[in-house]
Amino acid sequence: MSDWAVDLGGMTLRGVADEDPFELPRDLLFPGTDVSLLERAAQLDPLGVNVVQDLVILRVQVFVIEFGGHVVVVDGGVGNGKDRPARASWHHRRTDFLDRLGVAPDEVDMMLFTHLHADHVGWATRWLDDRWVPTFRNARHVVTDVEYAYWEAKNAVAPANHGSFDDSVLPIAEAGLLDRVPLDHVPLPGLRFRHLPGHTPGQVGIVLEGARRPALIAADAVHHPAQLLVPALTSRFCSDPQAAVATRLALLEEAASEGTTLVPHHARGRRLWQVARDGEAYTLRDA
Ligand SMILES: [Zn+2]
Repeated sequence: MSDWAVDLGGMTLRGVADEDPFELPRDLLFPGTDVSLLERAAQLDPLGVNVVQDLVILRVQVFVIEFGGHVVVVDGGVGNGKDRPARASWHHRRTDFLDRLGVAPDEVDMMLFTHLHADHVGWATRWLDDRWVPTFRNARHVVTDVEYAYWEAKNAVAPANHGSFDDSVLPIAEAGLLDRVPLDHVPLPGLRFRHLPGHTPGQVGIVLEGARRPALIAADAVHHPAQLLVPALTSRFCSDPQAAVATRLALLEEAASEGTTLVPHHARGRRLWQVARDGEAYTLRDA
């Protein structure tokens, strides 16, 4: 696994891999494209593509932010032991993720969810004896009310997000550890939510305001460097494609003009993005 850490000045940000590589057929993630997209994207991040097999290569990770005595986990990956028959690599996993987290679960005082897809919530719970219990039992768990309500309504009709609402989110709420908050929430001084709608209605990025080097955990507003080349390229997994494009265009333009470092959740080889304009599209500057 390819875990990493960076000192942003006053805040340490780490990325702990939960699935790497996470491979998807190109036309599953980006319908309507052809393999030339991957050939071009390979120049931005050769570790993000497999041109021969026509695959997009992502990673699923969990972020740990440490500052001012706080240990904050952002998102929950896939998790262990979850029943995910529709995706073989997520089904009944046994990994050493918690050993690589770098902190004991009881030291985590907050867990933030950018959104509630199955690859972002799994480690919120683990199996103990005969049920799913909170992994981070001393942590407040924070999700936007818009996001929670959207999936709660879907889950009332059929199990949502591969069943992860039931096995990874509801146990947190039932334990009294879940806070449903506004879209512009400030979870701690130095961290701020930023609404990034489109991938899901209540998705937020995490602005690391307390760092001397301005950075934004961009969640799934950008999945892959191919979307720098074609900013209007929408993934199949976005609930509102038009909103997703508008969000991405605004984010990339802002990152290019203001120099904010973007940390896209699923970026593989290039993890911290310094975005620059390149005609009608964007490219990555060397950090
Ligand atoms: Zn994701």
